[in-house]
Amino acid sequence: FDQTGREVEEIVTARRQQLLRNLSISYRQPLKIVRGDGVWLIDAQGRAYLDCYNNVAHLGHSHPEIIEVLARQAALLNTNTRYLHDTIIDYAERLTATLPAPLRVCGFVCTGSEANDLALRMAGAHTGKRDMVALDWAYHGHLSSLIEISPYKYKRKGGAGKPDHVWEAALPDSYRAPADWPVAEHGIRFAQSVRDRLAAMAAQGRKPAGFIAESMPSVGGQIVLPPGYLKEVYRDIRAAGGLVIADEVQVGFGRIGTHMWAFESQGVVPDIVTMGKPIGNGHPLAALVTTAEIADSFANGMEYFNTFGGNAVSCAIGLKVLEIIERDHLRQNALNIGNDLIARMQRLAERYPEIGDVRGSGLFLGLDLVEDRASKNPATERAGRIVQKARELGVLMGTDGPYDNVIKLRPAMIFSQANADHLMQVLETAFAEA
Ligand code: PMP
Repeated sequence: FDQTGREVEEIVTARRQQLLRNLSISYRQPLKIVRGDGVWLIDAQGRAYLDCYNNVAHLGHSHPEIIEVLARQAALLNTNTRYLHDTIIDYAERLTATLPAPLRVCGFVCTGSEANDLALRMAGAHTGKRDMVALDWAYHGHLSSLIEISPYKYKRKGGAGKPDHVWEAALPDSYRAPADWPVAEHGIRFAQSVRDRLAAMAAQGRKPAGFIAESMPSVGGQIVLPPGYLKEVYRDIRAAGGLVIADEVQVGFGRIGTHMWAFESQGVVPDIVTMGKPIGNGHPLAALVTTAEIADSFANGMEYFNTFGGNAVSCAIGLKVLEIIERDHLRQNALNIGNDLIARMQRLAERYPEIGDVRGSGLFLGLDLVEDRASKNPATERAGRIVQKARELGVLMGTDGPYDNVIKLRPAMIFSQANADHLMQVLETAFAEA
């Protein structure tokens, strides 16, 4: 660890002067992290925190094999896509092999935002339309084009509101569904909200370019879509001439345990899949995968060039990440550990009535905290106190959802049984004391 660097207060002050004013800092007592090691983040005093939040270090922080491949490729060559190299093709083949058949053409970029922006451009090129249907409280990235389709941004302070070409459909949160909806019909009932937007569009003589949604909405509060939902929505959007885009930036790469891609849990195949965050285990890499037909529509004569997207180093890292997920059976691990955590959190909920809902899949987990189970009024402050208490006890987690009352857990895919025991002990204490 490092005791030679700047003090926490000094950095906080310097950030205010030197960096953008609207960066945020986690926790009231900010953490100065100097090293990462697997599931651990280590602060300047040498204290190790169990990281249950960061879904970028998919294989764990500072994974030695990723560092090795990064260093080796960087020492050899790093060029852009205008020169030929093997790695980008090896990677495209390996990545598309994890996806269903029509999804065979890759676009490599550097951030999830770039992948989603490219997806919007492709949907526009393919359909000749601009109108998009997005889910309430969705977040798809920080570019202008994505703030426009992200209610999580445009609805909040500083946002400019919903633009005219964006149609907001209900967040399909089964836990907060109207009480008179039969559970078996949640998928169909929530899909009606998308049909309503399509009808409103048609009434104005408009047609959609597409629909975009996370296959398990994360910023929406760790939502597991009700069965049948995406099947209904994808069918209706396609019938109206639009493309369907699955944002797998948070939930892809086996995180949900049951499948490599979260859309697979709904039994659908999107037209475009976007990926980011865990794809490079921390290296700035992101991707889009689509069909040959859509890629053809996008190839309208204008060159697509991305200075860093698809460079040799990024592709070597992406390839290694896929190899390790498969070799170390990390999807299966996420499923096993996730199932155990869900069962134990359900038992915790028997003792703490403020846990209204335990949900998730694999290592994508949420605890929806309520004032009481009848009203389901969000217990936002309590959720914040528990996350704060957990930090004091050495475990990092976060909150999210429209009311910021859902405790959000997305640990690395190497999370072990011992790590799960540790997390549960800390949750027990945090619920008892916070
Ligand atoms: N889509 C989703 C679902 C995300 O969570 C994020 C990032 N939080 C993005 C897109 C944008 O990714 P990036 O920050 O890499 O641009």
